[in-house]
Amino acid sequence: MEPVLPKSAVAPAGRVSHMVQSDIRAMTRQCDAVGGINLGQGICDLPLPQLVRDGAVAAIDGGHNIYSYPEGARELRQAIAAKLARDNGINADPDTEIVVTVGATGAFTAAVLALLDAGDGIVIPEPYYGYHLNSALLAGLVPQYLTLAAPEFTLTQAALEAVVDDTTRAIVLCTPSNPSGKMLSAEELDAVGRVAAARDLLVITDEIYEYIRYDGREHISPATRPALAGRVVTIMGLSKTFSITGWRLGYAVAPPELARAMTLVHDLYYVCAPTPLQIGAAAGFAAPASFFEDLARDYEEKRGVLATALGAAGLTPIVPEGAYYMLADVSSLDCSSSKEAALRILRECGVASVPGSSFYRGRAGESLVRFCYAKEMDVLAEACRRLAAFKP
Ligand code: PLP
Repeated sequence: MEPVLPKSAVAPAGRVSHMVQSDIRAMTRQCDAVGGINLGQGICDLPLPQLVRDGAVAAIDGGHNIYSYPEGARELRQAIAAKLARDNGINADPDTEIVVTVGATGAFTAAVLALLDAGDGIVIPEPYYGYHLNSALLAGLVPQYLTLAAPEFTLTQAALEAVVDDTTRAIVLCTPSNPSGKMLSAEELDAVGRVAAARDLLVITDEIYEYIRYDGREHISPATRPALAGRVVTIMGLSKTFSITGWRLGYAVAPPELARAMTLVHDLYYVCAPTPLQIGAAAGFAAPASFFEDLARDYEEKRGVLATALGAAGLTPIVPEGAYYMLADVSSLDCSSSKEAALRILRECGVASVPGSSFYRGRAGESLVRFCYAKEMDVLAEACRRLAAFKP
């Protein structure tokens, strides 16, 4: 018998062997190489609100430069509790039910590691946000894909029941969704609630785009649906609301026992989110309602500009209900893959997008690319001028 050679110790661990750098990062590099306009990665390079900036500067000057409590600075948890009651209809105790995290990403990582065990099944609707899938895989979870069909992306009870089995412990909901822009309705959430109650499932939501929604739509936080009461971990973030993606601030809201477990894991990995930035962001929630309305209106205008340009190029857009991404149908380019289509658009227009394959496990994404319009209007307008002039 051949001797079994030991695996070299000087090698990445098996648990990262399935992981590759996402095409989103690769497109950013390719875009930089040709000096293109990057509508690929959701970078969100808009100016931050003065209130938030001044709050952080004052916190640094005021000496708030040491670790915060692991569950987050009290000022921020109190501001979050007030905001949850005002804007989401969620009543949460800031001392036991709110955990401030290193971005919504830190909250999701803490949730999958603290609340689920390796081998557990987790339902992930597709098109998905790659971080949800990859963090679940890294935690040893088994993804169970719930395919939502474009362009409506409707979630039905029957489709959900068809993917849930005895191993399923949790469902991920992203509303408004990256990449589809889909916002889940009360009926869809109640359908999830019926399945979750019957199967005793945890529901982990990602609502980071809650304030970015269009055509007068209301954002419905899944935790407010009676059918889901008591089984939701609500994840929200400040990156998109205050255009501070580099500050790394988010939070989770969960029943006390779950919040405690998430705090333990988050403390272990990150200790805490940056303290002065937490205090600065707390000031942001006191912004007048018009700030949040203006944010949505600004993105709605940009959504219109991009949809018109894509339509002119024959790349039929799937106009989103919320968030700031737009999927477009690139079948007319006759490329063999979405990656080839994205590279062609970059080469011929100097505008970067993300191949649809980044959001689907199978072929369904190959006819789509995603554009992000979280850009200053002049940059977006130039990108749209180039797209509109594209004659494939
Ligand atoms: N969740 C979704 C759905 C996102 O699209 C993003 C960023 O693109 C994040 C989370 C990242 O959030 P954060 O910056 O708070 O970690």
